[in-house]
Amino acid sequence: MNTTFSCVGCGKCCNDHHVPLTLAEARMWANDGGQVIVLVEGFLGNGLGLPLLQRDHAERRSVVVRSGAIEAHVAITFAAYNVGPCRNLDEDNLCRIYERRPLVCRIYPMEINPHIPLNPAVKECPPESWEQGPDLIVGGALVDQELVALIQRSRQADRDEVQTKDAICGLLGIRTTALKGDGFTAYLPEMGAFASVIDQVVAQPLAAPKGEWLFHVSGDDIAGQVLAAGAEVATEAPVNYTFISLRAA
Ligand code: SF4
Ligand code: SF4
Repeated sequence: MNTTFSCVGCGKCCNDHHVPLTLAEARMWANDGGQVIVLVEGFLGNGLGLPLLQRDHAERRSVVVRSGAIEAHVAITFAAYNVGPCRNLDEDNLCRIYERRPLVCRIYPMEINPHIPLNPAVKECPPESWEQGPDLIVGGALVDQELVALIQRSRQADRDEVQTKDAICGLLGIRTTALKGDGFTAYLPEMGAFASVIDQVVAQPLAAPKGEWLFHVSGDDIAGQVLAAGAEVATEAPVNYTFISLRAA
């Protein structure tokens, strides 16, 4: 079935959505006085935490790190911390930085992850936005080639920048990840430090220290699996992060 779409400018996608940012966009966000949230998830070399179908995509956007005796993969997202309306949304639901808005703002409501098909039912866009406008998807393929190019750019940035983000995280003391599917660890770095560490790592990429990662998991059963695989589990209460569980309570 084909899908039509036309944005009706309701502004809902600019409320309560942490918008993933490229490194340059995160630096811009800091420069503008905004807050960035760092979201981290990982999986083990033996595949623990990794949905089989997503292996290729997940590996390409993650960095190989050490945890305990083994190698693990960690994916790091820098996102605009949007609780309530985005700081750039004006009273008329217009974006104050429209010309330089982040890549992901240009892509919504499309998905970045190639394994997640567009599902209008889970998007913020109201029904009327799907009942009008030009074709968005025809025969399963995205029609707008500019949008295709933006999605490719976003995926590429994810892959190209993960090493740099790992180095930035190392300098900021961010070294605890969640297990993919089990949750995320979420950090809210002080933005002055965040900006200067980005500048430092971009200027001298190889000088950043490496460090081992710990896994924060939701329960003893998963902790047992992570430890049995040879990786290290966080045992102290979190000091600089929050664990967001994805497990049903
Ligand atoms: S930067 Fe602009 S388009 Fe993006 S979430 Fe904020 S207000 Fe919306
Ligand atoms: S939620 Fe959808 S319709 Fe509303 S502003 Fe965002 S993209 Fe447009």
